[in-house]
Amino acid sequence: MPEEIRESWHFLGENMVSKKFRLAREVNRVDSTIIQLSKKDEEEVQGILEKNICISLHDHTIVFPEKPEEYIPYIRSGRWWIGYRGLKASGLNVVFDGMLDGIALIRSPDPWDWDNVIHQIGMIKADINRHREIAVVAESLGDIKRAYEENKIAFVLHLEGPPRIGEDIDKVDMLYGLGVRCIGVTYSRGNEFGSGLADKNDRGLTDLGYEFIDRMNRLGIAIDLAHVGDKTSLDVIEYSREPVFITHAGARGLWPTKRMKPDEVIHALAEKGGVFGVEAAPHTTLTKKHIKHSIESVMEHFQYIESLVGIDYVAFGPDTIFGDHVGLHKIFMEYLAITDKKDDRPSHPMVDYVDGLENPSQFINIIRWMVKNGYSEEEISKAIGKNIIRVVDKVWK
Ligand SMILES: [Zn+2]
Repeated sequence: MPEEIRESWHFLGENMVSKKFRLAREVNRVDSTIIQLSKKDEEEVQGILEKNICISLHDHTIVFPEKPEEYIPYIRSGRWWIGYRGLKASGLNVVFDGMLDGIALIRSPDPWDWDNVIHQIGMIKADINRHREIAVVAESLGDIKRAYEENKIAFVLHLEGPPRIGEDIDKVDMLYGLGVRCIGVTYSRGNEFGSGLADKNDRGLTDLGYEFIDRMNRLGIAIDLAHVGDKTSLDVIEYSREPVFITHAGARGLWPTKRMKPDEVIHALAEKGGVFGVEAAPHTTLTKKHIKHSIESVMEHFQYIESLVGIDYVAFGPDTIFGDHVGLHKIFMEYLAITDKKDDRPSHPMVDYVDGLENPSQFINIIRWMVKNGYSEEEISKAIGKNIIRVVDKVWK
């Protein structure tokens, strides 16, 4: 990658570059642990990065303002900056980018309003396409391989939930045409296709939901169950002709919240050939042993899923942002519907950030952790990319 990375929207001129929001630092925003290795082990990490396509199954590459008070005006401004410098430091070649997910309150107060979703896709593509010397929107495995060879970051457009399309399933074709290659069936709350993880009663996949799954299979869009209810997830896994992803979650066997997935769903996912991305958003993948959220808690979830279904079905979707993620959750708790009701949530200490996996730039710490804990190069290469490539090779056609 060339040394000079020009920031988002530089091509629009000085006024745009001197933006009105002071953005968070992309690297070393806080004093988050960098896993220390011997010289030999660090060389092994660098060797693994050189030889393998390194993929995050879910992150958000947008850089937020330094101050959470500015998050809403920044989002409503409809123009956001991408953390190219932070991504360069991460070791990642490919990122499934959730963009603004459920907080895109640009043209309508409903984040999943069609116009809000299309606005995000257009804006992110505009900036990436004008950074073509360092970045590309990947729509095929060929695009990913080419980007890796050319030392560019490949962005996979990933919607955590579908926009409101009602019965107009043809709109899924439009999303495909715009480059979207991974879509969640529901985003925490249920919709016309099925139930979300926040719903009291999971009614399973609806008739329209079956059509939605069928259309994604036909087009070649990867299906994501990260924010989907358990019963609806099992319906999707059974019905889909292709393997599916859980792009970012953890194991309920370790931490009993709805945001985590039960063993039954993890087994079904793996039996179908799908992949589970382990998540690291603050206060999600906790464990009793590592109750203060850190990379250690996240890796305990990784090891639990690995021991349940094997190394071929697990990957990482850290779900981090550039900026104060805990601050973001405080502001958007209601919109995101990410947490269970207070009374059925186990109590745990709150952290300011997830030590060791604070933002996308720290993805490399996962590889360091695996080397330090005796994983072989073969095992690491599967978890950081090969497993995901196996699925997209089949699903994207
Ligand atoms: Zn999410």
